[in-house]
Amino acid sequence: MPHPQKNPGPVTGRVLARPSTSLAPRILILGGGFAGVTTALTLAKQCAGVLPVHITLVSAQNFFLFTPMLAEAATGAVETRHVLYPIRPLCGDRGVEFGEMVVEAIDLDRRRVVARHRRSDIRQHVHYDKLVLALGATPNVAMAPGATEHALTFKGVGDAVRIRNRVIDLFEAAALTDDPWVRKRLLTFVVVGAGHAGTELMAALEELTRGILLRHYPSIPRNAVRLVLVGSAVLPQTATNLAAYAREQLLGRGIELETARAAAVSAEGLTLQDGRVIPSACVIWTAGNRVSPVIAALPLAKARDGRLLINEFFEVKGARDVYALGDNAAQNDPHTGAPYVATAQVAIRQARALALQLEAELTGRERRPFRFRVLGEMVPLSRRTAVADLRGIKLVGFPAWFLWKTVYMQKLPTLAARVRVVLDWTVELFFERDVSELTVDGEEGA
Ligand SMILES: Cc1cc2nc3c(=O)[nH]c(=O)nc-3n(C[C@H](O)[C@H](O)[C@H](O)COP(=O)(O)OP(=O)(O)OC[C@H]3O[C@@H](n4cnc5c(N)ncnc54)[C@H](O)[C@@H]3O)c2cc1C
Repeated sequence: MPHPQKNPGPVTGRVLARPSTSLAPRILILGGGFAGVTTALTLAKQCAGVLPVHITLVSAQNFFLFTPMLAEAATGAVETRHVLYPIRPLCGDRGVEFGEMVVEAIDLDRRRVVARHRRSDIRQHVHYDKLVLALGATPNVAMAPGATEHALTFKGVGDAVRIRNRVIDLFEAAALTDDPWVRKRLLTFVVVGAGHAGTELMAALEELTRGILLRHYPSIPRNAVRLVLVGSAVLPQTATNLAAYAREQLLGRGIELETARAAAVSAEGLTLQDGRVIPSACVIWTAGNRVSPVIAALPLAKARDGRLLINEFFEVKGARDVYALGDNAAQNDPHTGAPYVATAQVAIRQARALALQLEAELTGRERRPFRFRVLGEMVPLSRRTAVADLRGIKLVGFPAWFLWKTVYMQKLPTLAARVRVVLDWTVELFFERDVSELTVDGEEGA
């Protein structure tokens, strides 16, 4: 497979969303995550047999990633492939055109997007009549020097594979040394960021390392494993009593909570703002996100966190026929007066609403403004424990964990996906979790 060119060539290849001879408006949706896929499928369903539209979805990968189960994939509780869903079959059923391409730039004046295929020299100009921006966010590793080079991130499916490999590989290395200091560094796992994703990941790592891996490494003493969660507070955006429960759970399992700010990451470990160093070969960065660079480059009004300012009809301030949602958009929640927090829950609701609004706009009907009241949140803490807040009803422990499993299982996009995940969970009840590494290109060694 050829690699991406340093100097991209001219525009080549078949042109997506080519001008059609019909009057069907071209709706171009960028991003194959919760927001983009749900918008495309809902709009196609709404318009089927009623309104001719040409819907094109462009995304860097041809799969959709179910992030709420990424921690389970990273620690082997579910099979990695089972949190990925191919986009093409979903689109094909509804007549949505799909292109696996990386968006490089958006030309708002000429109403076109420049995109290329990741591993070839194919580049295209994709034209639109209406543009939907749903390119999501990436981990903000720029927050600390050295994090880009030395920290693992926790956002994509590759991250899940890398985290699991790293943890298992460090256990293998630790089993080969008698030096307690070397062993301690090898078995110190640090997660920076105690928000939803970081807390969930740390709890899952504790279960994997102390609950499962230690059994297979009899030469490693139990107290050799050190787990550190770095953040000013555990679950700072969650209701205080639930956050307090989560904190107690983590402390009770021997996880250290470090409130000093992370200052730098190096091959030696994590340096804190007060100068202390946590020696570690596995620092995972979950603190903060930054909006897609393509969105950041747009000359449009943005909130302080870089998200595009939009109104209740998802219209981007200062750009005609351009809409944004999901992690790309800062939209005011009329119930709180503050912008919606960037979650899948919000992205899915926004996408359904945007699809209905677009259909109404195209058929000349009145649009209904988006006024969603957030349902609540759930944070799984592994070992059959979670915290949940559903419209003020607060649950902790096993009931919350059971609710999390039930709700998120239902949110999986297809019946086949649900069956696969339920089977993974069932197998885990009766059999040992798979603790083999999943080596990929260049990692096999000699
Ligand atoms: C580990 C983790 C756990 C989470 N757990 C939960 C949870 O339990 N509940 C919850 O509600 N939320 C959760 N979230 C948040 C949730 O995943 C996001 O808010 C949600 O994914 C936002 O949807 P989106 O479509 O805007 O962005 P994304 O889902 O990130 O999708 C963006 C898409 O755009 C594509 N893309 C990006 N850049 C380009 C480019 N230049 N060209 C082409 N394509 C591009 C990406 O490949 C991706 O397909 C979690 C997030 C993480 C990281």
